[in-house]
Amino acid sequence: MHNPLPFQSAVMPEALQLNSPLQFHCHPGISCFNACCKRADITLAPYDVLRLKRRLGLTSTEFIRQFTVPFQMDGDGLPGIKLKTDDNGTCLQLAGDAGCGVYSDRPTVCRYYPLALLTLREKDSAIAEERYSLVKEDHCQGHNEQRELSIAEYRAEQHCDEFDAKNRDWYQLVLKKKSAGPAVGRPPQLSLQFFFMASYDGDTFRRFVLSDNFRNTYTLPAEFYTEIEQDDEALLEFSYRFLRQVLFGERTIQEMADAWEQRVTERQEVWEARRQIEIERRAAAEDEKYRADGNDDCGCAG
Ligand code: SF4
Ligand code: SF4
Repeated sequence: MHNPLPFQSAVMPEALQLNSPLQFHCHPGISCFNACCKRADITLAPYDVLRLKRRLGLTSTEFIRQFTVPFQMDGDGLPGIKLKTDDNGTCLQLAGDAGCGVYSDRPTVCRYYPLALLTLREKDSAIAEERYSLVKEDHCQGHNEQRELSIAEYRAEQHCDEFDAKNRDWYQLVLKKKSAGPAVGRPPQLSLQFFFMASYDGDTFRRFVLSDNFRNTYTLPAEFYTEIEQDDEALLEFSYRFLRQVLFGERTIQEMADAWEQRVTERQEVWEARRQIEIERRAAAEDEKYRADGNDDCGCAG
């Protein structure tokens, strides 16, 4: 029968829960071993970047440059990153027949497979619910293995909880941004740049937070800066808080009392300079007009 759909989705339509059964086993002896890593499409979340850059002994900036490609997560250009592959689609972290070269630090998407996380939120509800969908691709033989376990057991085996706990607040803010849609409008370019830096480039974000400019803008205690200097996870948590403030105006980071006045004063200086330029521009235009009128008079009379 003719299929009216242009393609068949590998994602099964049923939303599964933690106690739903899963028939699946992936192991080094399986005939398709590494097939999935040779067609990798791996979107990274902030904690994935943190684990991978540590594993590879790189700064976050170096890791992003060498091993990721950018993409847009929504129509407003919310920046996302994916693991880089070679020209044939093979993940650069695949260490030949031995399998994944960063296995114990592999990203969340690789741990979840063949599950996909669905973060659902009822309209007008503040609480997002987590469900799972099953991904069945022809090349993956793991579904034909005779092993059944619950989704909760599979997640425990893959250590998904730790990654989810570290990324959850970020998923929530991405979901909030996406579901807000046109109501909040496209974030300014600067907010999108902050989103990229705070989400993925932790080492640059740390320098930003430790800068004099930042310290002079926000009222945060000295212990905060000491912790941020040494603790990647604390920095990550703070980055989510900072992004909620930047994207949604949730003011949980107190600004210095005079930071606002300072900004207003700076703005006033800019406005005054602009006003002055506008006055001069108009005066020059008037002069030009009179000169032209004068020339016309001369021309016509002649
Ligand atoms: S990170 Fe590892 S498991 Fe994930 S696609 Fe790359 S090689 Fe495969
Ligand atoms: S069973 Fe599936 S997940 Fe495991 S190696 Fe094969 S294709 Fe990849």
